[in-house]
Amino acid sequence: MIKDIPTKSDFDAIGCALLDQSWDIVAVLLTQLQDAKDWIGVEEEDAYWRLSNTKLSTALAIAHQGAEFLLKGRIADVSPLLLILNAPRDWPKPGPDGNIAFSQFRTVDAQDIVRLHDGCAATPLDKDFSTSFEALRIRRNSIMHSVNPDLRVNAAMLIDEILTIYRSLMPAIRWVDARREALSDSSASHLWTAEGVEVSVVREFNAIKDLLTSKSMLQNFGFDKKRRAYLCSNCTFSICADDGFQSRSATLLTKSPTCEELHCFICNETESVERNECTDADCNGNVISTEWEKCLTCGGDYDRPDHQA
Ligand SMILES: [Zn+2]
Ligand SMILES: [Zn+2]
Repeated sequence: MIKDIPTKSDFDAIGCALLDQSWDIVAVLLTQLQDAKDWIGVEEEDAYWRLSNTKLSTALAIAHQGAEFLLKGRIADVSPLLLILNAPRDWPKPGPDGNIAFSQFRTVDAQDIVRLHDGCAATPLDKDFSTSFEALRIRRNSIMHSVNPDLRVNAAMLIDEILTIYRSLMPAIRWVDARREALSDSSASHLWTAEGVEVSVVREFNAIKDLLTSKSMLQNFGFDKKRRAYLCSNCTFSICADDGFQSRSATLLTKSPTCEELHCFICNETESVERNECTDADCNGNVISTEWEKCLTCGGDYDRPDHQA
């Protein structure tokens, strides 16, 4: 009989780890660039991306593999045996115990996997997913099978595709949370410390926010880039207190000028704010953190007038 048959969660674990690895390559490139933004020009930035092409290409291949594993997980949820490609006459030879390990079988090819999924799963894949998966597959093949000097894998495109794949196949978990967990569980964190993980997450997702389109930010994080972004107290004054980084990652829950709740797409916290004018004459802000007594537009201290104290 067939032994060591993988389950959906086996495939999911590998798929998510691969997506994270791919994301990690791009995220490191982006945060490095963001850190250098103040002193480099357009030409240096172009050169930076040119030199990063191999890394981005690798990231793309890994992301595609990650998506394949997550899809296999969904098919395995119906039956892992659907993934086996060999006809019984071509099955591998059983071992001395009469068993054949699942890993010895040839499994479904990448180009057939979406069709196989939609043929057997209860809900077909959404169109966004199929488009992203196909785009990854085509670009991956052009890297693998030809030397194409013109191929420039765009970082924003890849980030977008990873997010679409994750959102479609793992809708129950927020990507920011999955990323935080992956960083905390990373081999480096085990060797040294997971202390800097929270700060890294804040910096990384601020860089991502600057890079992605409004549509993508709204779809993937529920963050509306067209609205005014405020500092998140938790990310700025608590998580990044020593680092000094200002995380402009929060928006008011409604468009009402009296709205007193601010939500951050990174830490997922909602905080209460007061709608008072900032006491700095140069600042037009009117969103004040009640807990921190800070203006969330300029980040300065709020001097509460005596009669309100
Ligand atoms: Zn936050
Ligand atoms: Zn202010």
